[in-house]
Amino acid sequence: MSEDNFFQIFQLETSHIRGRIVRMGSVLDEILDAHDYPLPIAHLIAETIILSLALSSMLKYEGIFTLQVQGDGPLKMMVCDVTSAGVVRACASFDAERFQKSREQLAALKTTESSQNHLAQYLGKGYIAFTVDQGKHTDRYQGIVELKGSSMVDCVQHYFVQSEQIGTGIKMAVGKRDGKWRAGTIMLQHMPEDEKNIQAGFGNLDEDDWRRAMILLDSCTEDEFLDPSLGSDELLLRLFHEEGVRVYEHHEIKKGCRCEAERVKNILYSMTEDDINHMNTDGKIEMTCEFCSRIYTFETKDVLRKIKK
Ligand SMILES: [Zn+2]
Repeated sequence: MSEDNFFQIFQLETSHIRGRIVRMGSVLDEILDAHDYPLPIAHLIAETIILSLALSSMLKYEGIFTLQVQGDGPLKMMVCDVTSAGVVRACASFDAERFQKSREQLAALKTTESSQNHLAQYLGKGYIAFTVDQGKHTDRYQGIVELKGSSMVDCVQHYFVQSEQIGTGIKMAVGKRDGKWRAGTIMLQHMPEDEKNIQAGFGNLDEDDWRRAMILLDSCTEDEFLDPSLGSDELLLRLFHEEGVRVYEHHEIKKGCRCEAERVKNILYSMTEDDINHMNTDGKIEMTCEFCSRIYTFETKDVLRKIKK
């Protein structure tokens, strides 16, 4: 089994704490490779992707899980979605000029260019929203949390503790190894004490058990998360061997996009004639998918003919 591009659920037997681990290599690198984002944005997008995968792995759903980060800073938006089949895509939208200014200001402060503490500078005020869309006939589940604290991980942990009353610890690492993007995360959760969870052995968590698990989680280093030769089973054993780790099967993560020419055409048909003429270059209109950077080309006269109808 490949030690890359998967998520896996596990359990700490002694304390009945649930966990998931996500590790990404080539799929993350391919997604980021399709874009040409400045380094700090690529880093934040990688965090968004790995966080989306950790959160979607908590849910039983048939459809699409979406995590959207929206801010009023130079980085305006990041979106990642994951289908229940494990197909993931992501993109960001930013104001290049404002972004460059913020980057220079940060450089002047002589801070390192890791994204972790720069949430406020790049994203400003805003929120993180997650949605599960299971098609027309089921409810959309939505959680929303204000952008606060120094990282997205902080925001999401805060959300679970405040809104869902689920004790949550997340540790992640994103970075390049041999010139390729890699990322990993582990998320631990203490389930609330409802009847079902108590029966399943998840009630009455001992404070000391939770604290110990958090310390062990915190001891996981960036190198351990990102080392392609360190398997996840081995990593979990290394961290939690005294807690009795039970691991479940791997779920594969793939890169993919759901864009198609038909849908792009429909967007163009809904525009005004002026808009279309404005987009026209040498008799053609090019539309680029923001997620996968695939370019769709149409004849301007064909599009105009459709609009005039
Ligand atoms: Zn696409």
